[in-house]
Amino acid sequence: MPKRNTATPPPPTTDRPGPQRESPDNLNPPTLGRCGICLGAEKVRTLIQLHRRAPVPGTGWGCVVCNLPADGAIGVACDACCEKLGDQLPGALRWICVGYAAEDRRLSYSPDEAVPPERAFDHDRALHIELWKCAVCGCTNDNPCDDGDAPCFWLSASLCSACASDDQRDAHSKALYEFRARQHAEFHRWIHSYKP
Ligand SMILES: [Zn+2]
Ligand SMILES: [Zn+2]
Ligand SMILES: [Zn+2]
Ligand SMILES: [Zn+2]
Repeated sequence: MPKRNTATPPPPTTDRPGPQRESPDNLNPPTLGRCGICLGAEKVRTLIQLHRRAPVPGTGWGCVVCNLPADGAIGVACDACCEKLGDQLPGALRWICVGYAAEDRRLSYSPDEAVPPERAFDHDRALHIELWKCAVCGCTNDNPCDDGDAPCFWLSASLCSACASDDQRDAHSKALYEFRARQHAEFHRWIHSYKP
């Protein structure tokens, strides 16, 4: 197995331009350390969330929607690199953060490197309806396709009603009916046991 390159990047450059007029940027100096692409320290204020675990657990990105701990790896980028690279930004990342970005410790990184399953880190898509996509027609939550006279609805995180077979639709209606019936019973139980 190839050994991970753990070389540290060169120390931050100390030569600064002469005195600067106070601008909003100077009043709020960037605190994210050096850019993970060019290693520049100017206007580093974009975070890139990677689908792998951070070198130091608890110092990365997490998600309250699907209850992910803050264990996802993060890269940071400067405004100049963001402007130059646009959508290609994540693919150009060469250093990721070790600990919090502001600590300015970096680990060499290659976007093409395969992520072993135990290092993978991602949202639980089932809990993010905005990420759902029909595997058959490619429709999304924001862009439903036509199902007869109405927009399609979800049968699962990867299947919309317009692309489902009759059997799948029947199974879904039955499951939905049973779910509602169960909720209804719960509701009645709750009403009857509620004593202020
Ligand atoms: Zn940069
Ligand atoms: Zn999530
Ligand atoms: Zn579909
Ligand atoms: Zn659809």
